[in-house]
Amino acid sequence: MYAVLAGGVGAARFLRGLTAVVPPEEVVAVVNVGDDLDRFGLRVCPDLDSITYWLSGVVHPEQQWGRADESFTVATELERFGHDPWFTLGDRDLATHLHRTMRLHEGAPLSAVTDEVGRAFGLELRLLPATDDRVETRIVTQDGRDLHFQEYWVRERGAPDVAQVRLAGAEHARPAPWVVETLLAADAILVAPSNPVVSIDTILDVPGIREAVGQSPAPVVGVSPIIGGEVVRGMAHRLLPAVGAEVSARGVAAHYGELLDGWVVDERDEDAVDDVAATGVRCVATDTLMDDREVAAQLARSCLRLAAEIGPAA
Ligand code: GDP
Ligand code: CA
Repeated sequence: MYAVLAGGVGAARFLRGLTAVVPPEEVVAVVNVGDDLDRFGLRVCPDLDSITYWLSGVVHPEQQWGRADESFTVATELERFGHDPWFTLGDRDLATHLHRTMRLHEGAPLSAVTDEVGRAFGLELRLLPATDDRVETRIVTQDGRDLHFQEYWVRERGAPDVAQVRLAGAEHARPAPWVVETLLAADAILVAPSNPVVSIDTILDVPGIREAVGQSPAPVVGVSPIIGGEVVRGMAHRLLPAVGAEVSARGVAAHYGELLDGWVVDERDEDAVDDVAATGVRCVATDTLMDDREVAAQLARSCLRLAAEIGPAA
């Protein structure tokens, strides 16, 4: 079984490749929930939903998140009431949030609801929220404001300079059922090319998860989300400096540090291979820009090959 630490779109693109080369039932993604928010009383889980929509083939093809063939009737009607439309939910997407919120109100944990949503979309892999507890990624800006991640990224378009990132509520959170068991039993733990700060760190910061990754005998192999010193999309280049990391394939590996046994960088960053290897992490370079399915599948094969070469800890 393969465990994958996963954010949103970068992870979804990677999981599409992985599930093409191993049986999808053997893939379990542990997904970031720090981005989750309440909007109009509905619980919205952007990373879980991005992966679900990608892997069920209903994702918006250009945007790469949300639903294809989407309409915004409800969002437009809401503007009538003077709501600031900073975070818009499409009509099709709303059905997912309505179902999830109803079930959460009935007392179902997020992990159970996530299974229901996955089944409804015909997912063959399993998605586990990192935690069923409420956690929230907060961005402290250099001008002294404390914003929800979505306020920083969507409302303010990632413009403010970032002083600090933290996972609020982490101290009371526990890993969702099966997260620790999955990590301990996995044949390999793969770190998707997701945002290191607001996707992967926010999974690892749930008490017990970083420890489980460290204790697991499984080799831990990550993929760099930085290609040629740049992000493919998103705001990792704005957040890495705030946590003292360099915006490079090498810098992200150093940020993950002892967690990693193997690191896959893009062929455009081949010069990083020796530096990373010198830190004791096995490193290979290959094409990691997963714009097409075949590249994503080849990348997954490279990760699994590296994991097999490293093997389980004695
Ligand atoms: P988000 O929550 O939707 O922002 O998604 P993630 O956290 O999963 O991923 C965002 C990160 O994925 C960004 O840092 C991107 O640079 C990276 N990313 C996206 N697509 C690719 C790709 O095809 N290859 C690589 N190497 N990184 C990617
Ligand atoms: Ca995200």
